[in-house]
Amino acid sequence: MFADLHLHTYFSDGTYTPEELVGHGVRHNLKGMALTDHDTVEGCARMAVACAAAGIEFVPASELTAEIHDTELHILGYFLDTTHPRLLSELAKFQLVRQNRIREMVARLNKLNIPLRAETVFAIANCQAPGRPHVGRALVQEGFCATLDEAFDRFLKRNRPAWVPKEKISARDAITLIHEAGGLAVMAHPGLNRNDHIIPELVAFGMDGIECFHTKHSTSMSEHYLMIADQHHLLITGGSDCHGMNKGKPLIGGVRIPFAYLERLKARALERRAKNQVRTATV
Ligand code: AMP
Ligand code: ZN
Ligand code: FE
Ligand code: FE
Repeated sequence: MFADLHLHTYFSDGTYTPEELVGHGVRHNLKGMALTDHDTVEGCARMAVACAAAGIEFVPASELTAEIHDTELHILGYFLDTTHPRLLSELAKFQLVRQNRIREMVARLNKLNIPLRAETVFAIANCQAPGRPHVGRALVQEGFCATLDEAFDRFLKRNRPAWVPKEKISARDAITLIHEAGGLAVMAHPGLNRNDHIIPELVAFGMDGIECFHTKHSTSMSEHYLMIADQHHLLITGGSDCHGMNKGKPLIGGVRIPFAYLERLKARALERRAKNQVRTATV
């Protein structure tokens, strides 16, 4: 029994619908799937329905872009209460930041005599959490670039002329928000960022787990983070980080973790919910 706890749909920067993603999950024999779209839980309701129909355990989640001491990191929130008012209002703020960032990127392109319109990007994105891939697709659709790679290489990559840095939530605030929404905070793909030095501080903030298995982790990297998980008593997660057809072939199926990790996560999330309820009842 296997699970994939890191997946994106077209509600952020993936290309699949929740239903298509679950279809792929069925083909790869997954028994558990988490939807971790960036800064949104918009796709969770449909994904839950599709998973239920396929007999797959669904984990509602989101991936937040955070920072600590000027180091960027991605924090996954698992088993979120997707109706939690403060979670939704904070996500709405991140989404507004993303939408303003698209306008700024388009303004920079306009200054380079590329008459792209923000509305074209928003129409392509058709979701609350638009990002650079949508600007890239708009550049291709309107004939300003031949491929998405060209769009990133010429304009959208870090330090390229249309690149706009993203405002980020502090890691501490991200972890607190996830906990308030009944969820578990997990450090995403630590091997990608090579920032092990921040782990003890994240643990001190109450971080619950670490993503040991990821498409871009080598076997030795995964072993390294399993050791760190053991040292800090962290939960272990993993997933493919599939974005659909955005990056060539879909990554789903490439990283599958034992279902038991999902069960441990779920047990801990239930404990958190119970604790949150006691706290609410006593204030
Ligand atoms: P954003 O969150 O708006 O900064 O966009 C980040 C997303 O852009 C990543 O999750 C990838 O999906 C995509 N991306 C980043 N670099 C590239 C690239 N060189 N080519 C294609 N997609 C990319
Ligand atoms: Zn992404
Ligand atoms: Fe990420
Ligand atoms: Fe991701």
